[in-house]
Amino acid sequence: MKTVAITTLGCKTNQTDSAVMEESLKQGEFRLTDFSDQADVYIINTCTVTHKSDFQSRQLIRRAKRQNPDAKVIVAGCYAQVSPDEVARIEGVDYVIGNTGKIDIVAILGADVGAGLAPAQTGHPQGMPLQTKIITTDILKEREVKGFKVSTFTGHTRAFLKIQEGCHAFCSYCIVPYARGGSRSVSQTDVMDGLKRLVDEGYKEVVLTGIHLGYYGEDLSPATDLLSLAKTIDKEFPKLRVRISSLEPTEITDEFIEFLSTSSAVCNHLHIPLQSGDDKILKAMNRGYTSSFFASVIEKVLSKVADVGIGVDVIVGFPGEGEGEFLNTYNLLKRLPVSYLHVFPYSKRKGTPAALFLKHVHPDTIKKRCVLLREMSEEKKREFMGRFVGEEVSALVEGKKDTGSGLIKATTRNSLQLQVACDTWMRNQEIKVVVADREGRAVKS
Ligand code: SF4
Repeated sequence: MKTVAITTLGCKTNQTDSAVMEESLKQGEFRLTDFSDQADVYIINTCTVTHKSDFQSRQLIRRAKRQNPDAKVIVAGCYAQVSPDEVARIEGVDYVIGNTGKIDIVAILGADVGAGLAPAQTGHPQGMPLQTKIITTDILKEREVKGFKVSTFTGHTRAFLKIQEGCHAFCSYCIVPYARGGSRSVSQTDVMDGLKRLVDEGYKEVVLTGIHLGYYGEDLSPATDLLSLAKTIDKEFPKLRVRISSLEPTEITDEFIEFLSTSSAVCNHLHIPLQSGDDKILKAMNRGYTSSFFASVIEKVLSKVADVGIGVDVIVGFPGEGEGEFLNTYNLLKRLPVSYLHVFPYSKRKGTPAALFLKHVHPDTIKKRCVLLREMSEEKKREFMGRFVGEEVSALVEGKKDTGSGLIKATTRNSLQLQVACDTWMRNQEIKVVVADREGRAVKS
């Protein structure tokens, strides 16, 4: 049996793609092993959202080849999809597989003929080592979601379920549409089947993932939307913890907020990309809303949904972001009682409109601004946790030991990250705990 090791960079959708590949490889008579082990085949499922993720992808490719020079090295995912020639030129790469090719991983490996001719349909570029096979499609032409059926998530307590793929919003800084194509959805029937499969496997929480969840259902016939899907899930799986991985501010309607305030399955936790708190920058980003609109959505959610946890994405250092523009972002986030921030340094991506914009911000300035916002995020986390000190809450035990406290990690529905004194065998159990302090320590009640 050939041994295969997979490593994954990037978002939950990419991690779900790896879980789908793992499952088909297991069915295909391959034995999965850890990426740090000697393996016959290494698969690097890459990300290309920043130049750092490209760099990390290249590092993993070289590490695989060092670990076993005779191994087959397969590079899949967004970096492979967007820059196939660049990836194929990396020493030791045997296959470059785009995002739609992952579903065929067993067939590709099974059909591996070693140092043969490049498959005709790829139109192999000149000067490329003959053994390097590039298998990509024109992702912008894709009309269906390939590869979403999964029943196990190795090493994860919470399962991910891909319900949507791609995005056609074309925010000016974002490479994702060129890597994942336009939006397409998994049918409601398949989503419900997917949930049933994961519930039957014993998962207590499922995170609904996609690239742009708010577009869910638009392409289906008849068309539907995320709210209708959520309502159906609420009826059929009222006891399941269902988390929505991310939702654009423009897609958080009054009706959706109303539903969230009474839902039994869907967690009272929203992760909402802001990206900038300056209206001029938001316009240049092609985000389609203003800072005051964003603030009004947050205020509405906070006023309607009890104990809701709100996480916010923000990009620092977009071209043209001067001190004034950054302060607008800083002050807006300071004012809004959100629970945590995910702070991303702007990364110039070739092929995106913003890459051609003038006034790029100096990397040192970007670093300083990221530090300020990450400090703010830590303070917001403590403030949010502080509201629950002394309170009894339900938390899902994730089984991993927290490196600092040595306690066990557990997560509440509203995204409090707790550390609990309990046994690892309690993994995947939802238990009652009392929050002890603003750092998130909690005791079983
Ligand atoms: S919504 Fe914008 S930032 Fe998000 S994936 Fe689509 S283009 Fe990228």
